[in-house]
Amino acid sequence: MSADQAFVTLATTDNYAKGAMVLGQSLRNHNTTKKLVALIGPHVAEPCRDVLGTIFDEVRVVDVLDSGDAAHLSLMKRPDLGVTFTKLHCWTLTHYSKCVFMDADTMVLSNIDELFEREELSAAPDPGWPDCFNSGVFVFTPSNETHEKLITFCSENGSFDGGDQGVLNSYFNTWATKDISKHLPFIYNLSSISIYSYLPAFKQYGHDAKVVHFLGKVKPWSYSYDNQRGEVRGHSLPPDQCQLHPDYLLLWWQLYAKSVQPLLQ
Ligand code: UDP
Ligand code: MN
Repeated sequence: MSADQAFVTLATTDNYAKGAMVLGQSLRNHNTTKKLVALIGPHVAEPCRDVLGTIFDEVRVVDVLDSGDAAHLSLMKRPDLGVTFTKLHCWTLTHYSKCVFMDADTMVLSNIDELFEREELSAAPDPGWPDCFNSGVFVFTPSNETHEKLITFCSENGSFDGGDQGVLNSYFNTWATKDISKHLPFIYNLSSISIYSYLPAFKQYGHDAKVVHFLGKVKPWSYSYDNQRGEVRGHSLPPDQCQLHPDYLLLWWQLYAKSVQPLLQ
């Protein structure tokens, strides 16, 4: 049953690939029974591909620019939406009956296989505009037909935020009102930003968090890590621009140091 269900992520650069490695490893550590799929762009370097190959069941290079299909033609009209189009590629994974997409800047804190009981399109509210869903974690059903519709929609209407979240919210536009079972609890996509915007809620519910999302400009890999001391070291942005929760940031780096770095050497 589970063999035809998969967690899917995307990485077009080596840095996002490192995020994907930590995500994949975190899913493994929590004994997922689902397949793990990494979609990668053509610029991800060979050593990173090899490591992804040891963590994920399937590593698939998606190169929209080299293909002569409908997606390629549409993309030519909207070169700015390159990464977005690449993310929409997840709908073409039709050898799976159901999938959960997860951004490469997410990390799971417990087993979340129960998400596969949900239907397309299930997602958690976006902390910035809760009538929109955040597209960092979503349940979907692969379908070439849906993929083509999304690509057409995207090239005709663009994206109101320039990324995949705008497109997906415009396309799945009944999410906010139609079916409450498609609203994933916030603990499945806890963005580090919202921790500080509602600290009492985080104190009340934060220990139930199942997925952390390092949403925003600063990512865990923007920092460095002192292996000897087991400490995260700062980056160049001022403190008010980096709102990653130190505990989760440390957890990300501990996982990276323990399970990913040895594979990269
Ligand atoms: N992504 C990527 N390469 C990029 C930008 C984004 O592979 O240059 C993928 C990656 O999976 C990432 C997702 O697209 O997690 C969404 O981007 P990001 O997480 O940076 O957006 P945010 O969640 O901060 O809005
Ligand atoms: Mn993200």
